[in-house]
Amino acid sequence: MICVSIARGRHRHVIAEHKHLVSQGATLVELRLDYITGEVNLKRLLAERPSAVVITCRRESDGGKWAGSEEARRMLLRSAIAEGVDYVDLEEDIAASIPRYGKTKRIISLHDFRRTPEDLDEIHARLVKQDADVVKIATMANHPHDNLRILQLMRRGRVPTVGLCMGDIGTPSRLLAGKFGAPFTFATFHHERTLAPGQLSYQQMMEIYHYERINADTAVFGVIGDPIGHSLSPMIHNAAFRKAGINAVYLPFRVPREHLMQFLDDAPELGIRGLSVTIPHKESVLTRLTDADAATKGIGACNTMVWDGNTVKGYNTDEHAALESLERAMAEDPGRSRSMAGLTALVLGAGGAARAIAYGLKNRGAKVVISGRTQQRAEQLADRLKCRVVDWTNRHGVGVDILVNCTPLGMHPNVNATPYEKHHIRPSMILFDTVYNPENTLLIKEGRTRGALTVSGVDMFVRQAALQFRLFTGQEAPMDLMREILKRQIGPAKY
Ligand code: NAP
Repeated sequence: MICVSIARGRHRHVIAEHKHLVSQGATLVELRLDYITGEVNLKRLLAERPSAVVITCRRESDGGKWAGSEEARRMLLRSAIAEGVDYVDLEEDIAASIPRYGKTKRIISLHDFRRTPEDLDEIHARLVKQDADVVKIATMANHPHDNLRILQLMRRGRVPTVGLCMGDIGTPSRLLAGKFGAPFTFATFHHERTLAPGQLSYQQMMEIYHYERINADTAVFGVIGDPIGHSLSPMIHNAAFRKAGINAVYLPFRVPREHLMQFLDDAPELGIRGLSVTIPHKESVLTRLTDADAATKGIGACNTMVWDGNTVKGYNTDEHAALESLERAMAEDPGRSRSMAGLTALVLGAGGAARAIAYGLKNRGAKVVISGRTQQRAEQLADRLKCRVVDWTNRHGVGVDILVNCTPLGMHPNVNATPYEKHHIRPSMILFDTVYNPENTLLIKEGRTRGALTVSGVDMFVRQAALQFRLFTGQEAPMDLMREILKRQIGPAKY
């Protein structure tokens, strides 16, 4: 169950949001009395309440906004109990001064906005002693391991326990709460009005993660990287799981570089069966693989990990997806060679995507030329693949058949940038831009105007996600759905 927090200044807005949430399917709502400006009229808020409520009135020291006296705050909480609300949230230090009465359940809570304390079990035992029906512990995650600690606390707790790790590192604790036995977790009314760092909106939790379907048996997948907030993969994979009727969830895991190994140790305990891997971990995870496909070995980077018992196999779906996109586009263009053998392919950039795509082009017999902003990095890649390198300033001097942009030039919001000058584009060229947001980058638009064959990054993105889906589940991916979701997301922001 999701408890949705409403924090508005005016009574009529609280009441309207409450009604709206219930019309969207919410069954439990937290009314944050500390956000109300002026005197709180509890009877008005509760008179025609359309769902069960939690009443909370948080002090500033606990992250709230209550500006009145402590006596008045406690009086409000007692009045809420007298009104027969379903739950009242009481901080540990005031719990003893507010006695149990009627059917109202007591949530005994503790917040730590700095860290996740080491002594979680002792804290939990102390909160239970305050005549708790539910224990709530919300702490700041400074380390991805904090998620596992708080999730395990929920599983162990003899009293129903809601644990939350705050911050973007802590997001998985909110989404996996149901899997680890929490009676409910918290969400906000709107994603732009979060009350605690890392919180998700009710809509995000329901529409992207299908939170209400997550249970003890749900298989966990996700993407690891740092940063990770911008990733579109959760939307695509979760929709695909749903469509295929698979009991699985796909989460964003922000894992700072220094915490990667501990996170991978924790993965089985978190229920993780597979991961997409992105910057900066694609190379570091290699040491943890028990086996790897040929592309991972050849490229020296892994973007997909799959757990199977004690084995962890690594794959690189970027290479396959990129080359498939290119080959498909070439095959569909009448009069064009279907083979890349002997064609000169200029790869712009020398990062992860460049490495995977240059490897694939080389394997298909193309004459690969690397050009990167940082000459040393470009030379390292060229050395590895035994191919040519040209100085970034001389990139337009190469006689190109296939041009691949593996830099972020042209990516949102810098949509007026391009890595290659328009007047060097010829109709015989194939232009492949790995940037997928926007789909029609300046390079793609200029390529079309000049009569070249263009391939956008959207196709590659969808194909690599579809390959991952197949590796994760053993089933064919709903590619049309994945494409539709990606295109919708790279349009105007929805969440
Ligand atoms: P990366 O490892 O960070 O590499 C980025 C490369 O671009 C580096 O060589 C970097 O140069 C270069 N670069 C960055 N800013 C530049 C600028 N302003 N001018 C010239 N060069 C610049 O990133 P990546 O993972 O390879 O990703 C690169 C691009 O590929 C991104 O736009 C990403 O969206 C796209 N991509 C698409 C897919 C897909 O499925 N469609 C998959 C993966 C990546 P330095 O070496 O000097 O840092």
